Amino acid sequence: MSNLKQIFWIFCLLLSGTILYTPLSAAEPDKDRTNKRVLVIGMDGTRPDALLQAKTPTFDRLIREGAFTDQAQILGKRYQKNDTISGPGWSSILTGVWADKHGVHDNDFKGKNYELFPHFFKRLKRERPDAQTVSFVSWEPIHDHILSEADIAGVEALPRGKNQTADLSVSASKFDIETRDGKWHHLLAVRKQGQLQLYLDGKQVASLSGVDLEFPLGGDFYYLGRDTRAGQTSFHGQLDDVRIWKRALSPEEITRSAIGKTNTDQSRDRKGLLAEYTFEATSEEDSKERQFTDTAGNAFPAKAVSPAAELPEVTSGAGSESQALDLPAAGTKSHGLRIALTEPFREITRSDFTIEARFKTTDQGRNILFGNNDGKAGALNLELHQNNTVRVYLQPPDPRNASSLEREGERDKIIAAKAARILKEEDPAAMFIYFHQTDATGHAIGFSPEVPEYISAIENIDACVNTVLKAMQSRPNYENEDWLTIVCTDHGGLKRSHSKGHEVPEIRRVFLIVHGPSVKPGRIQEQAYLVDVTATALAHLLGKVEPQWQLDGKAVGLKAGD
Ligand SMILES: [Zn+2]
Repeated sequence: MSNLKQIFWIFCLLLSGTILYTPLSAAEPDKDRTNKRVLVIGMDGTRPDALLQAKTPTFDRLIREGAFTDQAQILGKRYQKNDTISGPGWSSILTGVWADKHGVHDNDFKGKNYELFPHFFKRLKRERPDAQTVSFVSWEPIHDHILSEADIAGVEALPRGKNQTADLSVSASKFDIETRDGKWHHLLAVRKQGQLQLYLDGKQVASLSGVDLEFPLGGDFYYLGRDTRAGQTSFHGQLDDVRIWKRALSPEEITRSAIGKTNTDQSRDRKGLLAEYTFEATSEEDSKERQFTDTAGNAFPAKAVSPAAELPEVTSGAGSESQALDLPAAGTKSHGLRIALTEPFREITRSDFTIEARFKTTDQGRNILFGNNDGKAGALNLELHQNNTVRVYLQPPDPRNASSLEREGERDKIIAAKAARILKEEDPAAMFIYFHQTDATGHAIGFSPEVPEYISAIENIDACVNTVLKAMQSRPNYENEDWLTIVCTDHGGLKRSHSKGHEVPEIRRVFLIVHGPSVKPGRIQEQAYLVDVTATALAHLLGKVEPQWQLDGKAVGLKAGD
């Protein structure tokens, strides 16, 4: 303001009889506000002492240039009846009020009251309808319950690990199909490259991506009507048209297969058909050597499917026009049909495949249509489960189940990459991104600066935040935008938990970083709380915190007048 203007304003104020000029609550929206932007970075379950100990060049810079406290509290003075866990924590952070107002006391979200006390995106949108809002999280309840008014939003699922068991199942009730009604149904699993899909009665009902498994089937035998472990899980009913393919059938082929015209369909491409049981003739017919062709069209005799045990009775009158394998309730080792596992059948789990069967049962329990699972060897099972569920199960001989924490790290990187792309390609005014690997590592190993894995989880997130901030700085209009970056967490932790931590400083005490051109650098002197995040974000985005919002938080770390 020029001196002349200043004098003019003081003159006006004196004239109007007031000097309580408060530009921030003016009804007229501030034109400059469109350049006010907020990025809130949440990292679940991160202790401040561990944050300060870890090697974190990005957080160090934010702390050095911005406002910081390691003495923030996750519970306020007025109300402390909620548990010290993520549901109430992120609710307080994103709404700016304590649990008596937002209503969330634990992770079941019963009593949530986000209508009255909404996510800060909603308050932003009421004042700046054009402001773009973005949320990327990996903890679903934030997305499902707390979030509202997001223009771009996503929940990032845990990526599949290399050589991880692929267990794909779904309840047929979702598709109004009753699989235990004593009528014929068709179940098919197809793997095409990394994609595993389940089809029921010709309809795709489930799919799983990233199935990178490559292993041979284990054991000496494959079984129809059960797997290696006979017993209660054996199939009880009738089985027909079992086919094992060394290629992915096309959707058209799958439809035709489900209709059941394949037995007589001469035009059918039988390439890659490794085993086929139609039970059309005598059991001998099915067991004798037949000619099959591999995917290259080379013929080979079907020794791979010759039964090594005596065939059970094959009854007539099942299927549309055919006979079927009848499997009465028995569940002994002689139940079902045993098939010698040889090449190339043994190798189908090394590449694309299709497995299918027609079944008819009223048994509500677990019913293994076919498979070879014995709990450890390379297995491929096609199953029915309780609750009208259908399932395909692929288990490598040596699944790497210990890699879930690594995958948490990968997921955080994916979230950072997506956030970076949004910052480059879109025009967000408010963003919330959430990282989970600190909390996951704390629960798995320990919430402590003494735990190296916990420290390196924080360091990994530091690298993720660097990716995001670099993208922010590369925005073409970055110099004219006033980005406020807030880094926060919902709780700390002790040993491997943080529930009921009302009296535990390691759980209650958290950090808060506020960074950007509108920030007053240095230590945040007043007592800061989780609820201050929303108040600070809104003060920056809207230039005000309205009393009627009844926020429990206050703006912290900002320069006067922001
Ligand atoms: Zn948490």
